[in-house]
Amino acid sequence: MTAAPTVDRGRLADLRREEEQRFVELHPRSAELAAEAAGSLLAGVPMPWMTRWPGAFPLFCASASGARLVDVDGHAYVDLCLGDTGAMTGHALPQVAEAVARQAASGITTMLPSADAVWVGQELARRFGLPRWQLAMSATDANRFVLRFARHLTGRPRVAVMDWCYHGTVDETLAVLDGDRVVPRPGALGPQVDAALTTAVVPFNDLDALDRRLAQGDIACLLMEPALTNIGIVLPEVGYLAGVREVTRRHDVLLVVDETHTLCAGPGGATAAWGLEPDLLVVGKPIGGGVPAAAYGLSQAVADRLDGPMLGHEIDVAGVGGTLTANALSLAAVRATLSTCLREEDFAVAVPLAERFAAGVAGVIEQHGLPWHVQRLGCRAEYWFCPPPRDGAAAAAAVDEDLEGFLHLWSLNRGGAADAVPQHGAVQPGAHRGRRRPPHRGLRRGRRGPARLSD
Ligand code: PMP
Repeated sequence: MTAAPTVDRGRLADLRREEEQRFVELHPRSAELAAEAAGSLLAGVPMPWMTRWPGAFPLFCASASGARLVDVDGHAYVDLCLGDTGAMTGHALPQVAEAVARQAASGITTMLPSADAVWVGQELARRFGLPRWQLAMSATDANRFVLRFARHLTGRPRVAVMDWCYHGTVDETLAVLDGDRVVPRPGALGPQVDAALTTAVVPFNDLDALDRRLAQGDIACLLMEPALTNIGIVLPEVGYLAGVREVTRRHDVLLVVDETHTLCAGPGGATAAWGLEPDLLVVGKPIGGGVPAAAYGLSQAVADRLDGPMLGHEIDVAGVGGTLTANALSLAAVRATLSTCLREEDFAVAVPLAERFAAGVAGVIEQHGLPWHVQRLGCRAEYWFCPPPRDGAAAAAAVDEDLEGFLHLWSLNRGGAADAVPQHGAVQPGAHRGRRRPPHRGLRRGRRGPARLSD
């Protein structure tokens, strides 16, 4: 048996240095803007994750359209990340731009429902099969609200999540396992309380561990993605999700499915594609075509328990919703997006593209005898530096920041000029979010090829 090739770290470091230099030379305008931004913005960026570029400074984006980005130096790139799915539909959809412009001219936020809200509720119910819906500004928000409802309904203090999950900046979910102990996720800033007080963590694909933990009787809900998508893609083993449903029901634990990323599996996410039966469901990011919006759905049984007195006079200070939530602008964007994108016919185009991407990557991995893999879920694929892992911890153990950073810089530097868009998918900007994070903090690392879902 021949040994799998190993990475020559000295050579990798040399190549990385060359690419760092090349990046600086190719992007003078981004460098200027970065220097200027450093005077007023913390770390020179408007949001912390934007420091996670592989180069010396962030690439400043001038415009984005369809599956292409153009930076401020005029280089054009194929965007294989699409704002980490926020732009899964493609950038700058004309129909969303039109709807947003129309709505902006006739009132953005009033704290009153708009007619679009009715359409959106019906469409979400049709797609995901849950009958009742609420809007939120972000998937993070939606997850926070759902956890609150779950604790309130059950009177139980803790929520359960999967080891190495990511559900947004939701305090209770920023926890991982250290042996049997629940500890704050490495990198989580200023945890409000000991994560073990709020959260139980179980490994993905491990029904016995889930059963044992839920049996303790203190868990309000299990919040999970049907496939982990934030530590590479980890698919559920055959029968696992059915088992999760059985175990959660048996222990009277509400099952919350977060479809924010797994919407890539089809128009109704993995829930519709795989026949899941969640009690609550969260979806965010792409549903507004890039405009901030998210939603959560409730089964009839959960809705019945919440309707009435619980949504009474003091609901405005209950910790659910927000002043700008469900504003007319975001609802117009969601309607324009869901009526024209992320439909069966769009997936029929996008999934074969993702299959082609994954087959190409798999071919290269095989050709070089590397112990890596590429995983695909619907229209999205990611490569990872290990054989397919069974759970998040195994995926996290294969993180290789040096290798990943180099691969991304190399591709970025060959993204081509505006008039010479490369054929092979040159930039995966979301990937840059993987760059400067310590290896054990999870990674949406952009080695992904989500095919966009509309033209
Ligand atoms: N749920 C999942 C599964 C996610 O991957 C993310 C973000 N990547 C979120 C929720 C939170 O989304 P947002 O950052 O838009 O609030």
